[in-house]
Amino acid sequence: MNTPSLLNMTAPLRDDFDIPYHDLGPSERAPRLALVAGIHGNELNGVFVLSRLADFLHSIARGERSGQHLRERVIIIPAVNVLGVNTRSRPWPFDKIDINCMFPGREDGETTQRIAAAVLNVTRSAYYRVDVHASNLDIEEMPQVRLYDPNDDERATACLFGLPAVIERPLNKVFVTTLLRAWRRFGGENFVIQGGLAGNLQTNHCEQLFRGLVAFLDRTGIVEGLTLAEDEEDLRYFNNNQTFAVLSDHAGFFVSRRVVGRWIQAGDLIGHIYDSFAGTILTEVRAPVGGLVCSLRRQPLLFQGDLLARILTLHESNEAMALALRGQG
Ligand SMILES: [Zn+2]
Repeated sequence: MNTPSLLNMTAPLRDDFDIPYHDLGPSERAPRLALVAGIHGNELNGVFVLSRLADFLHSIARGERSGQHLRERVIIIPAVNVLGVNTRSRPWPFDKIDINCMFPGREDGETTQRIAAAVLNVTRSAYYRVDVHASNLDIEEMPQVRLYDPNDDERATACLFGLPAVIERPLNKVFVTTLLRAWRRFGGENFVIQGGLAGNLQTNHCEQLFRGLVAFLDRTGIVEGLTLAEDEEDLRYFNNNQTFAVLSDHAGFFVSRRVVGRWIQAGDLIGHIYDSFAGTILTEVRAPVGGLVCSLRRQPLLFQGDLLARILTLHESNEAMALALRGQG
């Protein structure tokens, strides 16, 4: 397998290292799809899913899957933050810079600027572009497509991933140096996919993300001849007025047995906040609204006002809007 590299870097006291990527399908065409993961080096679900997807597409390209054909060119970068993946670090380990704050980057800049420029350079000619993230070490997210001030084409295409939720948010006016922002200048259709919790792997989320990406390859005609299981998809579209953040009213130790991606009714138990020394229950946390549990706190230690959960509601509410903005993570 001929593995191209985004960028070659030298290091103070070790061999050079590269950021490898996969370039699959008809090389004479512009890429139809670019998939990126591991901008944050501890978000392992995306790294695993994209490397497995690359293996799957290589096997199709080699003709090992009868009746299946890779019709379009696909770029896959499983791990942008290669050193961070090696050291379980969210930012670039040398200088602790968040690579997603460095776009569009500079070819003659510092290391993370050069990485950002190289990622943009190899992905910008693709029509569909997807940046895959997990959440952080504290909050688990159900697999979802995130749209930021999308156009109608993006709204329609987001449903092709077959993930259970498409969540629309306004574009952050302050945080303008992300890969998604940089991509928008080149047109096409741009998506963020979120799934799981940083720091380790959740195989259930990985399977759902993998199935979603394969469904997307099928529905966009990038891969021909796939036979997908016709499972009942329950896809829903949520805007910002349908996100309800549940915040803690007490510091302590938060424990929840809930699972993200399941529906909950108003008044159902989400979890308990315990006194971490005495072990007594300080608060029973109950769902203030019914809906889909989209995000759930997995880091038990918390302060008053910390985010415990996000619930996606079927109906819009101004209160949800206000609370969502307070609990934005
Ligand atoms: Zn991330």
